[in-house]
Amino acid sequence: MDLRFGAGKPTDAERAAVDALLGPPESAWEGADDRNDTDLRWARGGREARERRELLLPGLHALNDRVGWISEGGLDYLCRRLTVPPAEGYGVATFYAMFAVKPRPATVVHVCTDLACAARGSARVCAELERDLGPAGSAGSGAVWQPSPCLGLCERAPAALAIRAGETPQAAVVAPATAEAVADAASAPHDAPAEPPAATAVPQTGADGPCSPPATRAGTDDDAAVPDPGPDAGQRPENSAHTEPHADPCARPESSARRDTSVPLAGGNGLVLLRRIGVVDPGSLDDYRTHGGYAALRRAFTLGPAGVIREVTEAGLVGRGGAAFPTGRKWAATAQQPDHPHYLVCNADESEPGTFKDRVLMEGDPYALIEAMTIAGYATGAHRGYLYLRGEYPRALRRLRTAIDRARARGFLGEDVMGQGFAFDIEIRRGAGAYICGEETAIFNSIEGRRGEPRSKPPFPVEKGLFGKPTAVNNVETLVNVLPILIEGAQAYARTGTGTSTGTKLFCVSGTVARPGVYELPFGASLGELLELAGPPETLRAVLLGGAAGGFVRPDELDVPLTFEGTRAAGTTLGSGVVLVLDDSVDLPRVLLRIAEFFRDESCGQCVPCRVGTVRQEEALHRIKDLTGAAAAGDIALLREVGRAMRDASICGLGQTAWNAVESAIDRLGAFE
Ligand code: SF4
Repeated sequence: MDLRFGAGKPTDAERAAVDALLGPPESAWEGADDRNDTDLRWARGGREARERRELLLPGLHALNDRVGWISEGGLDYLCRRLTVPPAEGYGVATFYAMFAVKPRPATVVHVCTDLACAARGSARVCAELERDLGPAGSAGSGAVWQPSPCLGLCERAPAALAIRAGETPQAAVVAPATAEAVADAASAPHDAPAEPPAATAVPQTGADGPCSPPATRAGTDDDAAVPDPGPDAGQRPENSAHTEPHADPCARPESSARRDTSVPLAGGNGLVLLRRIGVVDPGSLDDYRTHGGYAALRRAFTLGPAGVIREVTEAGLVGRGGAAFPTGRKWAATAQQPDHPHYLVCNADESEPGTFKDRVLMEGDPYALIEAMTIAGYATGAHRGYLYLRGEYPRALRRLRTAIDRARARGFLGEDVMGQGFAFDIEIRRGAGAYICGEETAIFNSIEGRRGEPRSKPPFPVEKGLFGKPTAVNNVETLVNVLPILIEGAQAYARTGTGTSTGTKLFCVSGTVARPGVYELPFGASLGELLELAGPPETLRAVLLGGAAGGFVRPDELDVPLTFEGTRAAGTTLGSGVVLVLDDSVDLPRVLLRIAEFFRDESCGQCVPCRVGTVRQEEALHRIKDLTGAAAAGDIALLREVGRAMRDASICGLGQTAWNAVESAIDRLGAFE
């Protein structure tokens, strides 16, 4: 690839895929085959064309979805259409793990080999696939399989995802995966068994109980473009047959009026954020409204933007993505910026290994996120919201697309939301397999059609974010918390949890537990109480809190309170809510090596401490994976030095935290002693 366009021509399929997104080219300057008289008189392009660069990532998806990889001719054509130098287009295409710029079969199977899946036998699945289909990356019988970082399906580990390109791209999730089921999905993804309902990922709801919606086949998904029955249609959605109209079975119990740190058990009483999972039909806007949907937005319009920000601030809501920044402060800072337009970005790129709570929320209660984003847009003065969804979540994508379309058709999005004169709409942007795009400024670059590399701060996103304009970025779980705040009021919301960690928190429990899944607990419950719900192993070796960027906790530390301040005081972190449980069969050095490999792979390479440090960290862990004591001491000293450099001098959180888990394993678990 070069700064100049090459000789490669797009195939008809590639041209059709790009034109379906951008419309037919208007001139030869934009990629039309023949030059006409007008083209010879003046050149088209300039600022207007360059502003369409934000369509580069959707364009790459269009090519990859249609053909399975991105050829030089296809990329040249897309770049010409968007006035992007082909070298830059190539740089973006090669940034993402889900794209390929070399020929490969139309079907690609991603087999998760990350921590939770490794604890549940992914190595065996890979070995069997290698035996049956050949080595990873080698094309055979129309499909290729490859190891993958976390697919966000940890409650059903080990997991695999088959994606087939074509005119109608198909995706099939196989979890729990066996080599046979993976091979079947690779040969016929449209015939793969349907995924279980999202509620099965929430053991507290009693997922096998009457609330569980029926399963469907993957090819006839329950949320396909089925018209939403209007309020007078006279038929209740199948999934909600057990509920009476307007009697909200999800209503919180009376006891929630007191400060509450009690742990909700199976049956769903006491759940707040998960209360509609398995109860509401995720495809039906009416069912969502029957279960309390859009009451929060109605109250927001009553309060006005400043009133909403005041409620969120007084509720003490802090970001759930890991940084724990006060949401009210972020919204106020965005709202008061004189520069316009303002943007809202929902960070749904949850890629921290072991995290899957946002997926469950989006699959099980998609309208809640749409409503919460609308409230956030109203409060911050944004009329456009981008929902940046990780590329490995095909069911969440379908459900959110359906929900957005239906909300728009019924006036809950668009020029005049709920007849209140407020304009707001949401656009979904698919990620393409880059962990770093979960960093708030990397998301901006990704949406803008650049490599998803984090930006230096300041300026902060509230001043100069997406397209250089004031932007509020919030995680899915953070946004969904706004609904109970507005419905119950800030004071009632803040009575749950502790003084500085208010409300409830979602935890993604995976690994060697009896009941892996998403759990909702009031802040202040202990790690031990959470593990009791999930069924801990008899011989617990360690718990990784906060994911790859978090830290290990010993079995004698289970009384650590699950709050931001409690975990900080205990020398660990809540992070995004990962709780990976490891029993004593775990090969700890291999787990550390996998974490190091993950960071080396996911580093964007922009700054030296992280780019070089993550490689040195992995090399040192390789050298000592079978060593202990004095034999490992030299490399442990090196690891400490490299870790300090990464923590002190990296631009973003990836490099700053890449040494956390390894350090805690050495210091708390006595790894290599
Ligand atoms: S710390 Fe790592 S991921 Fe972050 S900007 Fe630097 S190289 Fe990129």
